[in-house]
Amino acid sequence: MTTYVIKDVAILGGAESDIKIADGVIAAIGSGLTGDVVVNGKGCVALPGLVDLHTHLREPGREDAETVLSGSQAAAMGGFTSVHAMANTNPVADTAGVVEQVWRLGQQVNLVDVRPVGAVTVGLEGTALAELGAMAESAAAVRVFSDDGKCVHDSVMMRRALEYVKAFDGVVAQHAQEPRLTEGAQMNEGVISGKLGLTGWPAVAEEAIIARDVLLAEHVGSRLHVCHLSTAGSVDIIRWAKARGINVTAEVTPHHLYFTDDVVETYNPVFKVNPPLRTRADVEAVRAGLADGTIDIVATDHAPHPAEDKDCEWAAAAFGMTGLESALAIVNDTMVKPGLLTWAQVADRMSIAPAHIGRVLDQGQPLEVGSPAHIVVFNPNIDIEVDPTRTVSASRNTPYAGYVLPGKVVATFYRGRPTVLDGALA
Ligand SMILES: [Zn+2]
Repeated sequence: MTTYVIKDVAILGGAESDIKIADGVIAAIGSGLTGDVVVNGKGCVALPGLVDLHTHLREPGREDAETVLSGSQAAAMGGFTSVHAMANTNPVADTAGVVEQVWRLGQQVNLVDVRPVGAVTVGLEGTALAELGAMAESAAAVRVFSDDGKCVHDSVMMRRALEYVKAFDGVVAQHAQEPRLTEGAQMNEGVISGKLGLTGWPAVAEEAIIARDVLLAEHVGSRLHVCHLSTAGSVDIIRWAKARGINVTAEVTPHHLYFTDDVVETYNPVFKVNPPLRTRADVEAVRAGLADGTIDIVATDHAPHPAEDKDCEWAAAAFGMTGLESALAIVNDTMVKPGLLTWAQVADRMSIAPAHIGRVLDQGQPLEVGSPAHIVVFNPNIDIEVDPTRTVSASRNTPYAGYVLPGKVVATFYRGRPTVLDGALA
């Protein structure tokens, strides 16, 4: 079997060392190590393979936007070794049959772990609980349940879901969006929406659901995860809930760490996303929340769309942007470079903690001898201009087109074999 050595790499940003990979595991860490294939890690950091709790792979149903194959390739290029595939496919992943289908496709592609998310309600319609137990007991062993794209807004339905998942240590991941307060909403409600004459999406529409849900999670004694938190008020509610001992975790996306709603003034629909891009004060608050651990993880909400759904006027365009391939560079830019996170903390927010929340057993492990060799080698010092025509995702709706981002994934190892080498698919 081929052995690999990553030479002179800063493990979690610390001292330079060599990492030897053999038989799917980290076989040795030290200096002067040799192997069949050598990866030059000089100037790079090594982190445990990234784990995304929030990816839209679009298969089955929208293979024109993404497939399990193209999405797994994009994930590998971004340094990920595990992704959770959201349930809003067609058919919806609301039965054991559909989640097993997605899980099997992931196994066949074999570039990352593909962990299906199960829908909370049948057809994402919010009226009847999906067969959560059957999905948990299926070959896909689902532990994360979400109607993402839609909010489980009915309080009784949310309470039942939280009660049900306790039986198998599952978690309900809520897309917090009060539907009545966001009818017809196109962007963040504020100064810019007033100026542009677009229907606003108030922060309270997110915060009201999060406040209700943390209280429900406390009442039921269950585990709640909040998807793509985007406002300063949401950070305050999570901070309060954690101080009270409520079992809640939360994620922020790279784009909510990076952009403010000012970019909507371009009317470029690539910036149309759910939840919407917010204000400078919100961006500062989510960065601070991620830094102090109030927000547990970064999750991409990678949402590929074909050109016909995105290259149209603002009001008609679909919500969502791609994110797998740029996530680590954005976290470098917004969190590491300003001194808000160390690389060891990035490993926590993008690998260890999401693996724990999703109960992904052999991901998010420490980089030490005997651990499964899921590793990303990232050079934080190369500036790359994003060219959407060169993305690996089947869709081109990256919001960073033409932006220069700091950092490049040099290599990704999944189960001891390279999925990316020299910055290209292996
Ligand atoms: Zn969502």
